[in-house]
Amino acid sequence: MTAAKRDYRTALEYLETFEKKDGLSVAELMDSTIRGGLTYNDFLVLPGFVNFPSSEVDLTTKLTKKISLNTPFVSSPMDTVTESEMAIHMALLGGIGIIHHNCTPEAQAAMVKRVKTYENGFINSPVVISPETTVAEVKAMKEQHGFSGFPVTEGGKFPGKLLGLVTSRDVQFLEDDSVKVTEVMTANPITAKHGITLSEGNKILKDTKKGKLLLVDDKNNLVSMISRTDLMKNQNYPLASKSASTKQLLCGASIGTIDADRERLALLVEAGLDVVVLDSSQGNSIFQINMLKWVKQTYPNLEVIAGNVATREQAANLIVNGCDALRIGMGTGSICITQEVMACGRPQATAVYNVCKFAKEFGVPCMADGGIHNIGHITKALALGASTVMMGGLLAGTTESPGEFFFRDGKRLKVYRGMGSVDAMQSTGKKGNASTSRYFSESDKLLVAQGVSGAVVDKGSITKFIPYLYSGLQHSCQDIGVKSITSLREDSAKGEVRFEFRTASAQLEGGVHNLHSYEKRLHN
Ligand code: GDP
Ligand code: 5GP
Repeated sequence: MTAAKRDYRTALEYLETFEKKDGLSVAELMDSTIRGGLTYNDFLVLPGFVNFPSSEVDLTTKLTKKISLNTPFVSSPMDTVTESEMAIHMALLGGIGIIHHNCTPEAQAAMVKRVKTYENGFINSPVVISPETTVAEVKAMKEQHGFSGFPVTEGGKFPGKLLGLVTSRDVQFLEDDSVKVTEVMTANPITAKHGITLSEGNKILKDTKKGKLLLVDDKNNLVSMISRTDLMKNQNYPLASKSASTKQLLCGASIGTIDADRERLALLVEAGLDVVVLDSSQGNSIFQINMLKWVKQTYPNLEVIAGNVATREQAANLIVNGCDALRIGMGTGSICITQEVMACGRPQATAVYNVCKFAKEFGVPCMADGGIHNIGHITKALALGASTVMMGGLLAGTTESPGEFFFRDGKRLKVYRGMGSVDAMQSTGKKGNASTSRYFSESDKLLVAQGVSGAVVDKGSITKFIPYLYSGLQHSCQDIGVKSITSLREDSAKGEVRFEFRTASAQLEGGVHNLHSYEKRLHN
């Protein structure tokens, strides 16, 4: 053993004598004259000091200049990732879904509407039945709709004169299914006047301990209702992304930059859209700039995310025209072949760092889009300056993603395809929709693919997966020693959070190695 040169009690003072903290600042790491463009796998964040539990890490962040979210998670506008089911659950879990536009404007608007009218508060178009309905029919309706509380109205009309309410308890143990509902219904269910606030309605439900509160107008016509189940749902999703004024879930949708997209947007806005994504693989174009200007002029209250960009020159053109956020990434998505085919793009970590550094000067939040494979990638994107992350492949193959599961090679799979794959572009043509303009122009005779079509393994429900990402991200921030996404971003920019470049062998070392076999389970 060698004799110590210094008294152990002076370790902290000795540390002060070093000019720089251990590791690299983000600016040093990202100096592309030294190392070229970097991907998320090319570096690590160094651990910091932990003096708080991970549960205290605050993941609130900005999606756009005006919209804040409780989590940084966004699902991508792709036809194998985000339709209403995904968007509803992303919003319930604190993120947001961007509904794709590889469908007719009407179909896309209907999906937005479903998200906006999700039963979080008032059920404004409840399924009602007529007094002639039999118990057998009620039981069948329960199977069909998945819920069992049916108001009975005159002639089965809605809005219509309220006569009573049938719930599962009224029909559960009846042996004779042929009787009419009027014989078993509650003839005087609790009602309140239409116009009360949601919290007033919720209080009545809590106080009366009933399952449904029916809202009627002055003439006793049923106009809306509130369900106890929704109170519980509210309790179960404390992070839900909602609009402050209407309390409805937040919803995004994408559009292209051709003239027909203006009509499409009108329908989406009518359905209650909160944020629109201008969906181009190369966002620095006169088409997108014109569309951006027009949207900001026509719908001043609608938040606009422009992109995609990978350089500060591209970003500047969109910032100066008033975008409310930027979407960063070119050719880095898991299904994407743009870099190979077009020779255009940029390694994602370098793109995120450079664009975010520029956009920050103008208070424009940035979304890192594509190439997110795990929680570590999310942390790194945020440390490089992003406010949110957009995920396609990571959320494909979940219960909430569109499409049916199928079996191949003993595995349960779902299709996941690039929106620039021939597959997706041809289905656009078949349906006669005006979308996927992201990857080809109207005048193109031949479709040049920029993506592939593949399959991903069943990942279960995002109601488990997003909380896994949430909790993993909190732990990751704890290791780095930052208590919020904002500190992660700011301390990193200040050079307080430190980084290390990862050689190829360091990447091998950081993965599972030297095992005969293993099972990779991400959460319980
Ligand atoms: P349960 O017996 O507590 O499950 O109550 P219901 O069978 O009536 O289901 C209530 C759930 O379905 C709530 O989350 C409602 O918001 C939702 N829901 C959505 N649309 C309707 C509708 O038209 N009628 C009813 N009863 N529930 C609906
Ligand atoms: P992932 O999360 O799967 O790595 O990437 C999803 C992102 O890839 C999307 O949000 C979108 O920006 C991009 N993307 C979707 N389809 C295609 C495609 O066909 N080609 C290219 N180049 N990018 C795509």
